[in-house]
Amino acid sequence: MVREMLDWIRALDDLLFPKAPSCPLCGTRPSLPIGSCRKCFESLAVLWQISTIHGLPYGSLFAYQGFARDVIHRMKYQSGYDAAAALGTMLGLALREEPSFSDIDVIIPVPLHSERLQQRGFNQSAVLADNITRQWKRPIFTGIIRIKNTPSQSGLHSLARRENVRGAFAILPGYNLQGKKCLIIDDVITSGWTFQSMAQLIKGYGGMPVGAFLARAERDYS
Ligand SMILES: [Zn+2]
Repeated sequence: MVREMLDWIRALDDLLFPKAPSCPLCGTRPSLPIGSCRKCFESLAVLWQISTIHGLPYGSLFAYQGFARDVIHRMKYQSGYDAAAALGTMLGLALREEPSFSDIDVIIPVPLHSERLQQRGFNQSAVLADNITRQWKRPIFTGIIRIKNTPSQSGLHSLARRENVRGAFAILPGYNLQGKKCLIIDDVITSGWTFQSMAQLIKGYGGMPVGAFLARAERDYS
């Protein structure tokens, strides 16, 4: 009887005072509207930057090192869907405040090849894009597919990276990007050849490509 009473009081307590969801990056502290707890947010060392690579402008949220690197690694290789959602929220908040991106027409997550998608279960870039648009209302363009199942870019030198992603993407019939400013989304930018390959395709269909990434990696082979 006492136990039932306690259960009932707890249920009522949860109903009246719902607990904040826990941070998807550490799983312990309460999450804030920025997407994670304060401690994890500070550990990511967020510093929004606009840079250029292969003549293409892009924004990035933090350096690919330390805690940020660990979180991205977990997100990609340990089914970190919730981590991807949290980082997408942060990227969306940064993009919303970036004046040079205020005229973006569509958001385009870098697609995974269907075989890779099946292995991983989700496309981290698509999860980032979904959560960006919750903070910053823009349509997501889904007319680009990956036609080459390229090996991972990590461990390859710059020229090999370039060859690896050449012709990797295609636009589905009936889609058009004429006059559209397109924001390409991916998790990490290193040599920038994946970004460049997508951008070439978009330009070929009349679009104007720019990019936004979570992390910028040291480019010792650019
Ligand atoms: Zn946390």
